[in-house]
Amino acid sequence: MSTPVVPTLSEITLAEPRGFCAGVDRAIEIVERALQKFGAPIYVRHEIVHNTYVVNDLKQKGAIFIEELDDVPPGATLVFSAHGVSRAVQDEARARGFSIFDATCPLVTKVHVEVAKLAKEGFEFIMIGHKGHPEVEGTMGQLDSGIHLVEDVADVARVQPAQTDKLAVVTQTTLSVDDAAEIAEAVRQRFPKVREPKQQDICYATQNRQDAVKVLSPQVDIVIVVGSPTSSNSNRLRELAQKLGTESHMVDNADELQAAWFEGKSRVGLTAGASAPEVLVNQVIERIRAYGAVSVRKMNGIEETLKFPLPKGLRIEPQA
Ligand code: SF4
Repeated sequence: MSTPVVPTLSEITLAEPRGFCAGVDRAIEIVERALQKFGAPIYVRHEIVHNTYVVNDLKQKGAIFIEELDDVPPGATLVFSAHGVSRAVQDEARARGFSIFDATCPLVTKVHVEVAKLAKEGFEFIMIGHKGHPEVEGTMGQLDSGIHLVEDVADVARVQPAQTDKLAVVTQTTLSVDDAAEIAEAVRQRFPKVREPKQQDICYATQNRQDAVKVLSPQVDIVIVVGSPTSSNSNRLRELAQKLGTESHMVDNADELQAAWFEGKSRVGLTAGASAPEVLVNQVIERIRAYGAVSVRKMNGIEETLKFPLPKGLRIEPQA
């Protein structure tokens, strides 16, 4: 089938920054290095990051993705995904004697450490996040009880902590910055003594990608977000562009693009969630070029240089 041509299309503007963050880079590298060092199969609990292409690529290299530890054979090497896991999963994996590498993003671990520390001081928690997301399950699972999930402002009115003197708020790292701020304000209104993290839990990558979409959206007629349906931060990028009044679509790969979206439009904005690889962005660029876009321009934006160290046992140690 020939590619349809959209005569109005002129330019693609690439959001900066977009795509992989330091936590995703590290998580993928952990699985790849484990495969190189120990050979296939390497078991990974949950999708290492929420991206179909990345998961399929690692499957081909010998990773096996599981949800239940029952599906991991004795003596296997097991990697925890970037989203983090509950204490119960950590304890069970240890008890079963697996060789474990933890690919939990250090910025998620930071939240886990904060929860554990404050819980020892008698705090209860309000967690702002999306029910069922593995990061939320992992963070809430740091304690047996005492973390109350709120998904929106209405939930804040309903939440019933056992006491309000020692109450702290924690946030999923990949939320809409604006929605989370609104919910946090409702928490503050209802619980004026609530303790908030010194540095916000929403991570730098989520913040930077959303800031870039805020700059990009008014400059273009349509925003395309490369990301998988399960990716929280990718979904937030699409919603944000839409909220700013620019038509927006999220695609897992170039084949999901529809020429009809671009009819009558000239300028296309393109971004990618923190788990979406640049190879997919390039394929999307090529497809939109085939539709008729003639030029590609990079937006000015923050350059990200953060890099997280790999776990011991997977680092390449300097030669003696
Ligand atoms: S999106 Fe943020 S929290 Fe999630 S892996 Fe990337 S840096 Fe870490």
